[in-house]
Amino acid sequence: MFKSTVVLLIMSLLFFGIFSSPAFAQFPQDPNHTEKDLFNTIFNRLNDSISKGLVPHSVNNTSDSFFSPVLIEIDCSEVKEIEKVEIKVTTRLINWNKTEADRLGDRTAMAYFWNEPVVKIENKIKKLNFTNYLMIDSVNATKQEKDTLGQIINEALLYHEMLHGQLLIDAMKNGANWKAKICKCEFDLGPSDMEHTRIYDLESDYRRRLGTDRGYEIVEKKIITEADINGNFEEEIADIAELKGKTIITPTIYVPPGGNVEAANLEFPSGETGPIKIKGKLRDENKEGKVEAYIDPDNIGIFADITVKPYIEVMPTANPLLTVGVLGIAIVLFLRKEMR
Ligand SMILES: [Zn+2]
Repeated sequence: MFKSTVVLLIMSLLFFGIFSSPAFAQFPQDPNHTEKDLFNTIFNRLNDSISKGLVPHSVNNTSDSFFSPVLIEIDCSEVKEIEKVEIKVTTRLINWNKTEADRLGDRTAMAYFWNEPVVKIENKIKKLNFTNYLMIDSVNATKQEKDTLGQIINEALLYHEMLHGQLLIDAMKNGANWKAKICKCEFDLGPSDMEHTRIYDLESDYRRRLGTDRGYEIVEKKIITEADINGNFEEEIADIAELKGKTIITPTIYVPPGGNVEAANLEFPSGETGPIKIKGKLRDENKEGKVEAYIDPDNIGIFADITVKPYIEVMPTANPLLTVGVLGIAIVLFLRKEMR
């Protein structure tokens, strides 16, 4: 039988094994006006970028699913029990649910949910009807919308969430293994990339493309650093001199969904030169971490986007209990071109 009872999934944010509560899945609240306006604004910007060819991986089906169900038909004629699987995927904007968001742990401004489908079998055709949810934290997202950098972050985050929908739809459409499984009533949610093995890179890539498109000159650095045995880490991400003497600096730290980093902050030197450091702690010191920082002085506009690679490395030592989490940090500096 189709294992629908275990399929209910939150994918967008975080760890394996986190399921949205049935009450939340069944009774989502409608979005308010602020959320609708915000979504439309960011969604329209994303669609403009899509039409300019800026996205590194299409999210057209997720985008369409907000307007009408996306239909996927899978031929199962080699299987005796069913001839075909028909999948419909719809995505609905819902009201931000703080309880669900908090259950996911890390701070975020958006979330995408795959919910349990309605299942019907008619004339050897299995029909799976998915109604997925997207929600936006209007308080956080509105703050970001105030400047170009924040708008880029919001747009890339919406892209990230839509990839959670698209990557699974891609598997439904083109994944031979995926199709073979569904014909045997096995539903594989893996391609939705709960672990962000693909999505983080696609999101970063997209943000860089947006930066270039919006007039930022990009400098990129990649750093691998290690946390200590307690999970604490510290890394230089830039020199204050790169800010060209600007004194009004607006740094933002962002721990993406599943980032596994807490208490992250930036430390600035007092003089005109010296390192800008990021410090923080791995929430689970045996797991990888990810954190991003944006450094935005008033009119030069350096945008630092730090990505910590989503993998775990355990380094054996003389003491087998000593494990060291490894952080991979990619830094992207967006230098806003002088606009006159
Ligand atoms: Zn995600």
